[in-house]
Amino acid sequence: MLTDLDKEYLWHPYSSTTRPGPVWQVVGAEGVHIELADGRKLIDGMSSWWCMIHGYNHPVLNQAAKDQIDQFSHVMFGGLTHEPAITLGQKLVEITPEGLEKVFFSDSGSVSVEVALKMALQYWQAKGEIDKTRFVSLRRGYHGDTWGAMSVCDPDRGMHHLFKGMLAEQLFVDSPSCKFADQWNESHIEELRALLSAQSKEIAALILEPVVQNAGGMHFYSPEYLKRARELCDQYDVLLIADEIATGFGRTGKMFGCNWAGISPDIICVGKALTGGYLSLAATLCTERVSDEICGADPGLFMHGPTYMGNPLACAIASASLDLLSQMEWQDKICDIEPLLRVGLAPAGELPAVKEVRVLGAIGVIELNQPVNQSELQPKFVEQGVWVRPFGSVVYLMPPYIIEPEQLQQLCAACLSVVSEL
Ligand code: PMP
Repeated sequence: MLTDLDKEYLWHPYSSTTRPGPVWQVVGAEGVHIELADGRKLIDGMSSWWCMIHGYNHPVLNQAAKDQIDQFSHVMFGGLTHEPAITLGQKLVEITPEGLEKVFFSDSGSVSVEVALKMALQYWQAKGEIDKTRFVSLRRGYHGDTWGAMSVCDPDRGMHHLFKGMLAEQLFVDSPSCKFADQWNESHIEELRALLSAQSKEIAALILEPVVQNAGGMHFYSPEYLKRARELCDQYDVLLIADEIATGFGRTGKMFGCNWAGISPDIICVGKALTGGYLSLAATLCTERVSDEICGADPGLFMHGPTYMGNPLACAIASASLDLLSQMEWQDKICDIEPLLRVGLAPAGELPAVKEVRVLGAIGVIELNQPVNQSELQPKFVEQGVWVRPFGSVVYLMPPYIIEPEQLQQLCAACLSVVSEL
């Protein structure tokens, strides 16, 4: 069996080679369906880790890939440029919050976070503020698996706590306690205010996931927190980095999480859904204030340049994906998905194992009282004909935007059925 060879040779994400969890072989994927080698077709509730927003095997994205591959699939970006990168860069500047004018492409979300952290550090170095070298991050935050990104993930409960003491020591404030629709009061931001006020001389930037903390437990928090965080960063001369890798491109019901608060960060990271789930590509955008400062001082260069930077194939597909998004009236689509998730998941609120059910945009979450046993639960979802991969204490849905109401109902019903057995 091929899956035996998989066990012999391969290491899967966050997994053990000596006690590997179950894996299912995929032979095809079309629309919202993932087809397994045994012929079963699963409805995908994960959008392949939140990126496959238009569904699998999309004719428009396929065509964009074919057209570009017949021209050229890659050239180095040092000293060369091409239409796919230029067009995509222009589109990103247009759709991201106002003021983000310069685009730096990279290969993955984690790398785009490394780039953002470096930009912030080089900005302050260029200004002669050499002590501003630390970052503030929120507990429950998650920003990627590379070294710098790990240092700004939750240091105790996050998946990188194993490396505590080895990573750069950053500053952390509690995860926002004001839930998405809760009444705001200033005590919710007091810890952040006090930290910035006391230590701003050594702080380069605040990094956060706007409105939804994703891999840290799908926590939704008040846009007012974001608004006040922006004001505090201005007041205390600290840059604001928005990690929109998971929240970007419509997932929360706005194009970007920052749009809920009507704010613009100084630096933004986008990835995941950028290519509609076809290829790994990310971008870090910054304001001209940041880029001009970095480039105005010695050495006058931004010190980063991945081999596959601005890969034409990925850029061409991303550009086609953004066009699809603008043509599909994505906001109406998310507006249709949200109430269906609400109604479909609401009965879980009555189950003994469940702490809370919450929905925002095209994200539906059942938070449990206890962490799940992923290896035990996953086969149960497959038996129900759906692909849902819980983590930590959450069973959640982030379906492709093209999902039909009946398919969404099937996903919700499967979640209820599996969670009711806990
Ligand atoms: N930031 C956030 C908010 C993410 O959710 C993720 C991935 N789950 C990353 C960064 C890292 O992205 P990648 O896996 O593409 O490196």
